[in-house]
Amino acid sequence: MKKSLIVLLSLLLLVPCASCAAAAEADSSTLPFDDVSPSDWFYGDVLTAWQSGLINGKSETLFAPDGSLTYAEAVKLAACMNQLAAEGAVTLAADTGSEWYRPYVTYCAERGILLEDYAWNQPAERAVYMEIFSRALPADALWPINEVPDGSIPDLGGVPEKTAAGVYALYRAGVAQGTGSDHACAPWANVKRSEVAAILTRMMDPEKRISFSLSVPAEPEYRIEVIDGVTYVDGILVVNKTYSIPASYAPGDLTWECRAALDALSAGAAANGLSIYAISGYRSYEYQLGLYDRYVARDGKAEADRYSARAGHSEHQTGLAVDVNSLEYAFADTPEGQWLAAHCAEYGFILRYPEGKEEITGYRYEPWHIRYLGVETAKKVAESGLTLEEYLGVTSQYAD
Ligand SMILES: [Zn+2]
Repeated sequence: MKKSLIVLLSLLLLVPCASCAAAAEADSSTLPFDDVSPSDWFYGDVLTAWQSGLINGKSETLFAPDGSLTYAEAVKLAACMNQLAAEGAVTLAADTGSEWYRPYVTYCAERGILLEDYAWNQPAERAVYMEIFSRALPADALWPINEVPDGSIPDLGGVPEKTAAGVYALYRAGVAQGTGSDHACAPWANVKRSEVAAILTRMMDPEKRISFSLSVPAEPEYRIEVIDGVTYVDGILVVNKTYSIPASYAPGDLTWECRAALDALSAGAAANGLSIYAISGYRSYEYQLGLYDRYVARDGKAEADRYSARAGHSEHQTGLAVDVNSLEYAFADTPEGQWLAAHCAEYGFILRYPEGKEEITGYRYEPWHIRYLGVETAKKVAESGLTLEEYLGVTSQYAD
């Protein structure tokens, strides 16, 4: 099996495609791109991937090595690799028009390579493209060569289990190795086209795979990463008085995961004869700026800081936080408030500002404010009995 797959994968190098026909006619032994130099570490990988027709230039003379891989491009690559391994040839072709990627999406969805839809034209997150790639080849084509025990990749704490499984599979196969001396994945960062060329080379050619090993740290360490001005602690996005997000961070609404979880929570409540509904979800930087200023004018800065976030410090700007039902403390004692406290973790939420924790979270008790973390993480935090700050070992204090 291994041998035959290697043959198949090396055939991938020869797969013709319309967009690289011009390249095939010209001299294909060197790259025609002005922005990739033979001294670049990725030159050989880009050459191989370009010769294979898997990756094209952005134009005849530009490759855009620092450009981000989109979800659509990731799915196209996964579909081509899979079809070649399964059928010995690639017959898939792009649609004309703006949704050129549809045939690849359909192909991958039908074969269980793709388990959900993504914003196809957006840059792919690293962990997600790895998850997709990990299912693109038969399991025995990605045989493990490295010791990478569960828990040894340092920054996958906030990543869903199925996604993390894909990351581990590529690390174990020696296809991906992460960044830095501790092989961190940087799961939410985007992936450059130059890096994908290297990954493709290793997917196709087992001899190019990388040997390394990781071990689980004796003391779990939480790792802080700042990506585009947004702070992730062990993969969990954190916004509080210590950690801000830029004004430009504007999802525009609740994220679809948070929205879906909230719908499920409301349905769960309804099944118990209770009504739980959002009264405030996403708030933009500008909206929070006005809101906070009004509270300061009314109550003074010190008091306003106890219950309202300064612009850039509100969890509502992330699209992951929701206020439900009522901004009255009495909500905590209603059947809805009690059900929410007892069951929200089952739907992926935590009560973000619990009673008696103002010194730690930076905010007064808010029985109505829930934060989406995903079911796995929310349950862990809830079972720990800790606030998110304590759970992650971070502070929540303004610098001034
Ligand atoms: Zn709130």
